[in-house]
Amino acid sequence: MPEVIVVQHPLVQHKLALMRAQHTDSATFRMLMNEIAGLLAYELTRELPTAPVEVTTPLETMRAPMLAGPPPVLVSILRAGNGLLEGILRLIPTAAVAHVGLYRDAETLKPVQYYLKVPPDLPQRPVLVLDPMLATGHSASAAVSLLKEKGARSVRFLCLLAAPEGLRAFHAHHPDVPVVTASIDRALDERGYIVPGLGDAGDRLYGTTH
Ligand code: URA
Repeated sequence: MPEVIVVQHPLVQHKLALMRAQHTDSATFRMLMNEIAGLLAYELTRELPTAPVEVTTPLETMRAPMLAGPPPVLVSILRAGNGLLEGILRLIPTAAVAHVGLYRDAETLKPVQYYLKVPPDLPQRPVLVLDPMLATGHSASAAVSLLKEKGARSVRFLCLLAAPEGLRAFHAHHPDVPVVTASIDRALDERGYIVPGLGDAGDRLYGTTH
């Protein structure tokens, strides 16, 4: 069974409710998204490897677990994925940041890549893909396929909200990729928005709502 982790923690749910509210302004929305990203990072990074390292406390020397291996790569799916970056970088400042840009072709409705920048040692590093909204699952699937073509082997996906149909579509292509989310909402509407949702995450982050 593909893994889906829904983080029900009261702080996450409270902050998410504030983000959903239609009158929450962009600055607050951005701050809340980064705060939730940091809280969800707890689950997202649960499988990062550790190794014992000798540490001398004021009382004695011990072997304490520390993160081991190359730091993860955070992959922002443009543009709303950028809203999750700061909150995670604050916790893992050594992470690299990759970007994937996709747009939907008006005729085929398929995602088309317009930007991709990843570090050359991607195959050796844990890959954490960020997009606040897992709606149809098409861009998430396409982004993860591109990353796998570049050699990504250990991939996890973080979103704030997922639609049930998006989760199914994503896991049909990538059953090996665990998804961490704050909520599985009711459905997608006819325009592809998650309902009840929070609206267009990119527009709300960057104040481009009309
Ligand atoms: N993207 C968004 O920003 N919001 C949705 O509801 C669906 C996709």
